[in-house]
Amino acid sequence: MGAVAVLVRSVGPPGLRTPHTGALDYAPDAPKIPAAAITVEDAERLQRMQDRGTQVRVRLKMEAKFLPDADSFNVIGEIRGRERPDEVVVIGGHFDSWDVGTGSTDDGGGCVVTWEALRLMKKLGLRPRRTVRVVLWTNEENGLRGGQAYLERHRGDLANHVLMLESDSGVFRPTGFGFSGSTAARARVKEIATLLQGIQADRIDPSGGGADIGPTVDAGNLPAMSLSVDGNYFLIHHTPADTIDKIDPMDMSRASAAIAVMTYVLADMPERLRSP
Ligand SMILES: [Zn+2]
Repeated sequence: MGAVAVLVRSVGPPGLRTPHTGALDYAPDAPKIPAAAITVEDAERLQRMQDRGTQVRVRLKMEAKFLPDADSFNVIGEIRGRERPDEVVVIGGHFDSWDVGTGSTDDGGGCVVTWEALRLMKKLGLRPRRTVRVVLWTNEENGLRGGQAYLERHRGDLANHVLMLESDSGVFRPTGFGFSGSTAARARVKEIATLLQGIQADRIDPSGGGADIGPTVDAGNLPAMSLSVDGNYFLIHHTPADTIDKIDPMDMSRASAAIAVMTYVLADMPERLRSP
């Protein structure tokens, strides 16, 4: 069409003029023109100007650039199961973030609460029957290669994956978990969740999953879970407002406790959770 650049109205909700950044893919046969997200407020202003017949002229100055790929790593730790170490319950969040904020909510919080869940088990001297593995995935935002690398490494071992859980919707007050899996497995997960009534985190939502666990969950047809929270994630994530002041330590503690209880029971119960 001859465009020299493209401006995208932020895909997040309107929020104090915070532009919401994200990924961009070029069609192989299209020129690689610059693209930028602008705030909802600015997009609407441009629209008003255009509606009243003003010729809009924009000068675009950007500092973004592509750099060559560099090595990066998933960070993995685990408590080996005491009876069936080969069977694993995987939990985690992604370690990378967009550079506009600090990534506190997307997804620093998700990394900390899953890591902390494992630390709590260790601190309490609990060693479940099966292995609990925490994975801090790399490169979620920019291509999902941490999630794909995990699948490639464990492709021969999918049958030993009991369940995968990701926390990547921000860490606000936890309400429970999203779950995708068989009806029998859902019934069992609901029973376990009753242990979390005391912190009102016992709800089991209709579906669960996450970007990083997605490739492995799909390949193995595995039960999947996500932490459900009560908060306006899209207002913050991918914006300059994704900073530490949005994190409430009490919410973090509740989320870590909920994940620790759920995953400990899944890893320790005598009968393995039924696969879909
Ligand atoms: Zn994320």
